[in-house]
Amino acid sequence: MTQPTHDTAGRPIVLRGGTVLTVDATRQVHTGRDGGGSRDGGDGRDGGDGCDVLVVGDRIAAVGPGLSVPDGTVEIDARGGIVMPGMIDTHRHMWQTAMRGYGADWTLTQYFVWYYLEWGKVFRPQDIHAGNLLAAWEALDAGVTTTVDWSHGLQTPQHADAAVDALQAVPGRFVLAYGNIQDAPAAWTGTPEFRDFVARRIPDDRDMLGFQIAFDVTGDPSFPERPAFEVARELGVPVTTHAGVWGATGDDGIRLMHEHGFMTPETVYVHGASLSADSYHRIAATGGSVSVSTESEQSAGQGYPPTWTLRAHGIPVSLSMDTSVWWSGDLFSAMRTTLGADRSREHLQAHASGETVTHAALRADQVVEWATRGGARALGREADLGSIEPGKKADLVLIKNDASPVSFPLLNPYGHVAFQAQRGDVHTVLVNGRIVKRDGRLVDVDLAALRRTVDGTVDHLRSQLGEDAWQRGMNPDVPETKVLDNPYTYTQYRSGSTHGG
Ligand SMILES: [Zn+2]
Repeated sequence: MTQPTHDTAGRPIVLRGGTVLTVDATRQVHTGRDGGGSRDGGDGRDGGDGCDVLVVGDRIAAVGPGLSVPDGTVEIDARGGIVMPGMIDTHRHMWQTAMRGYGADWTLTQYFVWYYLEWGKVFRPQDIHAGNLLAAWEALDAGVTTTVDWSHGLQTPQHADAAVDALQAVPGRFVLAYGNIQDAPAAWTGTPEFRDFVARRIPDDRDMLGFQIAFDVTGDPSFPERPAFEVARELGVPVTTHAGVWGATGDDGIRLMHEHGFMTPETVYVHGASLSADSYHRIAATGGSVSVSTESEQSAGQGYPPTWTLRAHGIPVSLSMDTSVWWSGDLFSAMRTTLGADRSREHLQAHASGETVTHAALRADQVVEWATRGGARALGREADLGSIEPGKKADLVLIKNDASPVSFPLLNPYGHVAFQAQRGDVHTVLVNGRIVKRDGRLVDVDLAALRRTVDGTVDHLRSQLGEDAWQRGMNPDVPETKVLDNPYTYTQYRSGSTHGG
């Protein structure tokens, strides 16, 4: 079921006649055949024939109606569809994708028990590889062209090599966020093997494979994470950290980071819920951004999805889906649930004081921006990713499904992306100017082989756990003294803020 790429490799590509959501600074829309909703500056030519996007090499060469194109250009019919920038997920534990759906009913505490305390350590390098491969293809299938692999199962450099091997075997754009929940951040970042790995495997240009260091800050007043921040600073690498996670990380961690000078514009705070105004002020003042995983926060319990307060504090937002152990690896769900959670809170807050929200504060175009340009901004890639503008990298998604009654009428393109579209409507995906999905099918993927690889990991895990523990693992018991308020084993610190005040 694969489609050969040899006929398109190296040739220019034009997406003809779509509705183009540029997600540029003014969120310009070049409308397609339906004609409505144009905000394209009134050149008078849109509204009937749609808009073209021409790709030459790895870049967007031109955007506009009726483009003339070089000989040999591959033509893709985008009429009736939406062309948008490739989506960017800033926090996804790709190694966990081989456990797809297993923890659908977990709380965050149960997740900590299963992965941090009990079973995370039985994952071998080939299991990291299997999860990453599956997650990488899953991302591309859903139009997620850049994914941050928040890879906190890297117990050895061999695990890390396996993670990168998988990412480099799939034609997506990735950022390896290196982490290890089985050891203290100060310990694993301090080894010669870690430095050696970075030197060996992370390319200097960081274009198709970027790099971050991923660890959490417990709030322990002795600040045991400090040496890991110093390594990140020395290497010039951003830190990404689960912050504002009920029962794990809170204001104490933010304050320690700030007081020691480790909050920077490159820092990505994941979740950023359950924090006080003081912490949001510190994040805003230092220019960092928050990766919001609304589906995760709603069901696992990190705190209420925080876009309502991030907006108030002017903190930049990107979106993420966290882990396929519970949720689907696409950003349509993330956009949809983020709109729902933000609006739900706004309504309830108004009702509590006997008032009515008459105009929703969070708009569909904003969540589409967060899922694209917001991710680029968080990764320091706003100059070349996240919008459809000539000169930028050609990471593009065509949403079009002629077999679906949901594909028309197309009256409000941003609203369509946020509330109507889904991964099955992702028709074509380009990454770095290369077609990786076309006509609704991934290109050059061997799903049968991928299934065998993942089956091998599932078989290994089942045999390690035993059938009884495997079944109980879907609703594991919680050893309270070990995990509540601190799932990390390198410090005994407990804030106490999450049990009874
Ligand atoms: Zn996470």
